[in-house]
Amino acid sequence: MSIITEISSDDPRQSLAKLLQIPLGLDVWEVKPERLVARATEAQIDRLVQMGYKVKPIVDETTHLRTFAEPSLMAGYHSAASLEQDMRQLAAAHPHLAELKELGRSIEGRTIWALRIGERRGNSKKVLFMGCHHAREWIAVEVPFLLARELLEKANEPKIAGWLSSAEIWVAPMVNPDGHEFCRTQYRLWRKNRRRNPDGSIGVDPNRNYGYMWGTLNIPTSSHVPSDDTYVGPRAFSEPETRAIRDLIACEHISGLITYHSYSQLVLYPWGYTNEEIADPVDRQKLIGLARGMGDRIRSVHGMVYTPQQSSMLYPTAGDTTDWSYGTYGIPSFTIELRPTTAEQGGFILPANQIGPTFEENRPAFFLIEELLSPPAVARRYVQGARIAEGERVAGPGMGGLAVAAAAPANSLEIVVGGTVIRVPPGSDREAIAAAVGAVKSAMR
Ligand SMILES: [Zn+2]
Repeated sequence: MSIITEISSDDPRQSLAKLLQIPLGLDVWEVKPERLVARATEAQIDRLVQMGYKVKPIVDETTHLRTFAEPSLMAGYHSAASLEQDMRQLAAAHPHLAELKELGRSIEGRTIWALRIGERRGNSKKVLFMGCHHAREWIAVEVPFLLARELLEKANEPKIAGWLSSAEIWVAPMVNPDGHEFCRTQYRLWRKNRRRNPDGSIGVDPNRNYGYMWGTLNIPTSSHVPSDDTYVGPRAFSEPETRAIRDLIACEHISGLITYHSYSQLVLYPWGYTNEEIADPVDRQKLIGLARGMGDRIRSVHGMVYTPQQSSMLYPTAGDTTDWSYGTYGIPSFTIELRPTTAEQGGFILPANQIGPTFEENRPAFFLIEELLSPPAVARRYVQGARIAEGERVAGPGMGGLAVAAAAPANSLEIVVGGTVIRVPPGSDREAIAAAVGAVKSAMR
């Protein structure tokens, strides 16, 4: 029997970071500076004690499931079948705005569905919201589904109407339908897909199977052992579920994405495979700024803290979705870990009465659409006598963001506005810079 266990250490030689390097086959649930939570067998717990770690059982798996996965607490979550039905209904009710698309088929032949939302304008910016790479993270199905429903049901509100006329929003709430179905009917804590591995074990972790720096780590949180919960698969994109998402992003030229997971309440940005930061200063500032912006907006709804941080700071992973989409296409890519924060609050099994509030606080994800449609102007190069730092946001009247500190006294300034580079002549004052930026922005509308 498995026990959900808290692991800590007072001994600096036996740090929690070091534990994450040791191949024990633990199912790691939570990583915080002061404690690690994992689902462990009694043999694994004995081993941890021998190694000098402090081990405290939180609850045995059976009791945890009885407490949280009780049917009355779970009613309200979708199955693969009820999700398909609801997505069909949304598309049928809004035929001018929504289209149901098949992205691919899972190992067991289930369709991976997406809704394409927005007026078809051809050159629209495209944003993707995804859920449920990991089977047991059910709230990660509901948040993107409810985002899609809200966009369609409130399509006449001016702000949303504006987005739908200039953007396409793709929503794929259940990337791993086989895993989800197995989780719903057989074992509530199942994580991976349902690939039959050559050694007889089941499942590849879809969020370790993407093809950027794939397989470069072999640690418990990104494992080459097929029976492990984070098994990376035999090669990049070995799984039909990850190929479906790869092909969507490549064919549709997606410009930004959020992939929902649970739990821990985090807004994660690349990289996951390394502790190095994103090298490009403009990209780095853009992604950190967006992650913080989402975190602030989420907190303003119900006071819940979703901490923005680099993905590898949670724990290192190679082959995750956002490393690949940012690493390959340079597009802003985020993993949002939804409610709750701890195993004691249910961990992966969030009571259904929290679906509503979790969605409400995650509406600010729409901020990503807004930012991609109207990207802030960023000062890219300002050679000598700079009073505007490289990567600083530049804004003028009515443009939001930071005001320009000063004009360029002697050198020209390059400003990037959505892909267009503006060169501002030497000596330009703040109004001249604002006018140049404003002209490009209105041409983009
Ligand atoms: Zn996950």
